[in-house]
Amino acid sequence: MDWMIDLEFDRRHLWHPYTSMDRPLPVYPVTRANGVRLTLENGTELVDGMASWWSVIHGYNHPRLNAAVTSQLGNMAHVMFGGLTHAPAVELARKLVALTPAPLQKVFLSDSGSVAVEVAIKMTLQYWQNQNEPARHKLLTIRKGYHGDTFAAMAVCDPVTGMHENFSGILQQHYFAEAPRCRFGGSAHADDVENMRSLLEAHGDEIAAVILEPVVQGAGRMYFYSADYLGQVRKLCDEFGVLLIADEIATGFGRSGKLFACEHAGISPDILCLGKALTGGYMTLAATLCTDRVAEGISRNRGVFMHGPTFMANPLACACALASIDLLEDGDWRSRVAAIEAQLSRELAPCRDLDSVEEVRVLGAIGVVEMKAAVDMAKAQAFFVDRGVWIRPFGRLTYIMPPYVIDAADLAALTEAIIAFAAGPASL
Ligand code: PMP
Repeated sequence: MDWMIDLEFDRRHLWHPYTSMDRPLPVYPVTRANGVRLTLENGTELVDGMASWWSVIHGYNHPRLNAAVTSQLGNMAHVMFGGLTHAPAVELARKLVALTPAPLQKVFLSDSGSVAVEVAIKMTLQYWQNQNEPARHKLLTIRKGYHGDTFAAMAVCDPVTGMHENFSGILQQHYFAEAPRCRFGGSAHADDVENMRSLLEAHGDEIAAVILEPVVQGAGRMYFYSADYLGQVRKLCDEFGVLLIADEIATGFGRSGKLFACEHAGISPDILCLGKALTGGYMTLAATLCTDRVAEGISRNRGVFMHGPTFMANPLACACALASIDLLEDGDWRSRVAAIEAQLSRELAPCRDLDSVEEVRVLGAIGVVEMKAAVDMAKAQAFFVDRGVWIRPFGRLTYIMPPYVIDAADLAALTEAIIAFAAGPASL
């Protein structure tokens, strides 16, 4: 059905992410999306640089994903997961267990990335309660991280860059190690590791788990840190007997050049959170995987895991996720992501010479141009839409993470627009 998009009603009644109701940022009415193109209501086509926040890895309106959803729709759109089960959930769990590091054996399917993080945190708390170590109820994380917008997730986001400063007095207090300064490709900085160690030495018996985004710190700073550091954190967790939660909601399914970013360090977490690209960006679904040890720890002495959302394991979303993972496995995502990485490195390099630019960073299918000053988001959006691309900067960061199916010409349109922006409006 084709509606006219009532922008005035939208402005008066609809919240958009992170905006005010009396000074909302402009929004662009979109009517269709196909491949890497978004079509606006006035017919303008935009090359998508955002993959709808990391998720649309195969492009929009993909025939195989469409077919998977349509075919499942004919069977059932949804059914409660309490007391019932279904093939899409079972087969998706089978696939996730096979794809992720071998120790991860148990799967909890939930509705969104933030909920997957809540589930992970709850798993660690219940695990320690059931080991008669209830004092272990704090988390240790690294600064500049981002894990979602619900309350337990907010409490482990960076207190300043994590977008949740307003709640600092209300949130559960956890421990924060310094954000690793060591860059991807280099060795861990001894001071960074020492800082993590000293927090574990001082508070180890209160700490349930370390939670972090492996290698790629996303919404908090779009920064790529040393895989060696991640490896050292894994060792410290083992040494101090705390669990490790890897939040791969943004990095999962190839974005950083490996299927999962933990592979850069050759480590396996005790708990893994997945979301975003899990369904190829079609619908909301997330997964929290854990080891047998964690699951047995929670379940012993008649323990039960206390979580069960209404839309847990939604069959439509599970069927779509299965098709998306099949597509990934059948396709050449590794070479596509590698080609995107090479082109981003080459084409964004000239930004380094611009006065407005602090740093250029590229990893896998992620390109980041960090400006020296914060970008005016509304002006930046208008600038990019004028140039036929969809790029949405925040703070000092202009970044892209396009669908893996983007071709060289469309990717060049994105990088050219970023250079023009950094040399033009961002430099004023
Ligand atoms: N963790 C990370 C690393 C994320 O990037 C995000 C989303 N930006 C989340 C958690 C939260 O996911 P969701 O928005 O689906 O709740």
